[in-house]
Amino acid sequence: MNTNAGEFLDSLESLDALGRPLKDLRISVTDKCNFRCPYCMPKEIFGANYEYLSKQSTLTSEEVVRSATIFRSLGISKIRITGGEPTLRMDLLEIIQGINSIGGIDIAMTTNGSLLTTLAQDLRRAGLGRLTVSLDAVDDTTFSKMSDVSISLDRVLDGLESARKAGFQPVKINTVIRRGWNENTILDLVDYCRKSGDIVRFIEFMDVGSTNNWEMSEMIASSQLLETIQGMYPLEAVSPNYMGEVASRYKFSDGKGELGFISSVSQPFCSSCTRARISADGKIYTCLFAVGSSLDLAHELRNGSTHREISEKILALWEKRDDRYSELRSSGPTKFTNDEKIEMSYIGG
Ligand code: SAM
Ligand code: SF4
Ligand code: SF4
Repeated sequence: MNTNAGEFLDSLESLDALGRPLKDLRISVTDKCNFRCPYCMPKEIFGANYEYLSKQSTLTSEEVVRSATIFRSLGISKIRITGGEPTLRMDLLEIIQGINSIGGIDIAMTTNGSLLTTLAQDLRRAGLGRLTVSLDAVDDTTFSKMSDVSISLDRVLDGLESARKAGFQPVKINTVIRRGWNENTILDLVDYCRKSGDIVRFIEFMDVGSTNNWEMSEMIASSQLLETIQGMYPLEAVSPNYMGEVASRYKFSDGKGELGFISSVSQPFCSSCTRARISADGKIYTCLFAVGSSLDLAHELRNGSTHREISEKILALWEKRDDRYSELRSSGPTKFTNDEKIEMSYIGG
């Protein structure tokens, strides 16, 4: 196996069918979670009888690190660890240490925050660079409704505090606003982040998967959230940190931090989407809404394929990529049926 990360960099870089380079990677390390957010893993579906991936089919920590090495050699410099809930993986620190040892990769992770009190420092030491915590409310009642488990809001808030103390500053907060569920919490969340120094990013409720009963009427567009927040705190638009940044950023005019909006439904950003995804069982997807996997990386990793052979298959896949689901959704009905769509907890948000 050839694991020299830089070796193929120049020779193999390429653009997809719509001219987009491959720049970042999301790796889902588990499809399991200790929350049951109804917009992602509704209890009625993800109950005792739900068939999760087996341990055998899930990528091992070594396989995750090898995958990261291959993608690094293709020019990837950002990896986000996600799930399911990544902190449920017992070998999470090994995974992060392994990816960190490749070099040249900015490692981020998205978590529900429930296990951060014990993990935050070790994650930092292992080489995790940035942390995003999902938090859909800062009052107990709404939080419980949005997470649908008995884990308390305080546990997540304590986890956030541990993360800040461990050096993750600023922490980013992901908040999905769903009409009729948690729009009451918008300004409280903004206040919370203005005090804590975290950066909140409001995410539009998306039609990922086929189990969350998504309705367009429950999606509140970012423009409307912006108006609500502007009514309380004047905001000024800020230019993106880098080309292709998915969140549109605003800073508070009084200097007390910034926030962002991820408007996947109302303002799709497919034209600058440079992201590949690996599911927990090692399938590569080139879109959050892809129908069926594009390449069985686990199979390639397990059948003795070389670094170069796998790299070439990934590039061949990328060169054919023409996904732009969100753009197509805005221009009319899509070709997909609900049965074909993959779940967010499997592919990673
Ligand atoms: N369990 C971790 C967490 O919640 O942060 C990581 C995985 S979760 C699938 C990643 C992100 O996807 C979370 O911020 C979550 O809010 C978001 N998400 C899940 N389902 C969504 C949906 N239908 N629309 C928009 N965002 C969604
Ligand atoms: Fe779990 Fe995250 Fe999905 Fe909520 S959004 S159910 S925390 S994977
Ligand atoms: Fe990227 Fe697919 Fe989302 Fe468009 S719909 S931004 S191509 S993941």
